[in-house]
Amino acid sequence: MPPLTTIGFDADDTLWENELYYHAAKRRFAAQLSFACPEEHSLAALDEIEVRNVDIYGYGIKSFSLSMIEAAARLLPDRLEPELIDSVLAISKEMLLHPVELIDGVTAALDRLAAAYSLVLLTKGDLFEQQLKIKRSGIADRFRAVRVLQAKTAEVYAQVLGDLGVPPGEFVMVGNSLRSDILPAIELGARAVFIPHALTWSHEHVQAEHLPSHGWIEIASLADLPSALQALEAEQPWRTAACD
Ligand SMILES: [Mg+2]
Repeated sequence: MPPLTTIGFDADDTLWENELYYHAAKRRFAAQLSFACPEEHSLAALDEIEVRNVDIYGYGIKSFSLSMIEAAARLLPDRLEPELIDSVLAISKEMLLHPVELIDGVTAALDRLAAAYSLVLLTKGDLFEQQLKIKRSGIADRFRAVRVLQAKTAEVYAQVLGDLGVPPGEFVMVGNSLRSDILPAIELGARAVFIPHALTWSHEHVQAEHLPSHGWIEIASLADLPSALQALEAEQPWRTAACD
């Protein structure tokens, strides 16, 4: 394999916290309906509606807002008062206005890696929301290119790399989602580094038998990324850093 020249970073739950706020919002939603519905029942209904709505509305907080209202309408068909809709919308407005919280060590890791690699930020989701987060993050200037993508498939990665003039063999994608960051990169002939986050939406999970057998490595945090890149370039055995 050729040496790596370019690192693609996922943003949500790789560079900054994201799923944390969805978990808190879901708990708040369930608490608001708890006068009539058991919280576990509300959470299950919301999850089912949210996953289905991604194909209709796309990702992001505005899509999530519609899912909460739909879930409330399903769970409380005779008791969906305007005050309840207001309180549900207040949850999502707070999410939209929340400051970006970088994950520990991100700035130092990017500054260190920028000396040896070209860095790009590839995030999936709602354009308005992601652009706002990128601006609020204060780290946009570390990246050669920033792209907000509607999906993270091998075709989309190929298009982005083509635009940037980066051969897939020189590219490594870093992220917390096996489904969006790791699998499509490997499919394309690039490499990948998986940094699991304690909270990752179940929609992004992949069953073990569908995972590629080589070309990617799992690490615990961005601080381990330089050594993981060296291991990938040296074609170390699969996932040695995680399994040792
Ligand atoms: Mg992510």
